[in-house]
Amino acid sequence: RFITLEGGEGAGKSTQLKALAQRLRGTGLEVVETREPGGSAGAEAIRSLLLTGAEDRWNARAEALLFAAARADHLEKTILPGLRRGAWVLSDRFLDSSRAYQSGASGLADADILALHRIGSEGLLPDRTLVLTLDEAEAAARAAKRDRGAADRIGARDTAFHRRVADAFRAYACQEPGRIRLIDASGQPDEVTARLWDALSDLMP
Ligand code: C5P
Repeated sequence: RFITLEGGEGAGKSTQLKALAQRLRGTGLEVVETREPGGSAGAEAIRSLLLTGAEDRWNARAEALLFAAARADHLEKTILPGLRRGAWVLSDRFLDSSRAYQSGASGLADADILALHRIGSEGLLPDRTLVLTLDEAEAAARAAKRDRGAADRIGARDTAFHRRVADAFRAYACQEPGRIRLIDASGQPDEVTARLWDALSDLMP
């Protein structure tokens, strides 16, 4: 199974991905934990191009193409081999982040992002996409608390931008209720993990 976690900054995707992976392993499954941008050597190299440098280093189109190129490599080197072995592949962000960030929030056409995805990644869609949702104030507070280390030009965007991202994810969940589920990310981490787990129950072997 191919599962993606999505959501804005500070929603707790990476913490939850680890917790979910551990719980799945507990049932005897092989689990591959991965992330975007990144998840393979080539895609990690593209990640550092995307996340460093001046804020206007890339325009939205260049950014969308770099994300698509990174994903093509990630798919070939990490995601597909895992799925072919029968592993569950959990990715921290995937296509729907490209749609929410480069289209929903940055103005490119959703159809263009999907076209890049067809070209780069065979149009592969996750079996389930879990979108962690958190109200604006709580997301900002959580994001401020973590230390991202290296300069992160792309993380320094304004409230209106993050609101457009959140609105876009909500819209996708309405359009594809079978694949995309909104998960309340408030409360204690183990409560959130339990909600994610429930949202995968129909996919369990
Ligand atoms: O997952 P994480 O929050 O670490 O994401 C890394 C950064 O890349 C974030 O700042 C996010 O806003 C950005 N991003 C983006 N477009 C994507 C995926 C991630 O701008 N398609």
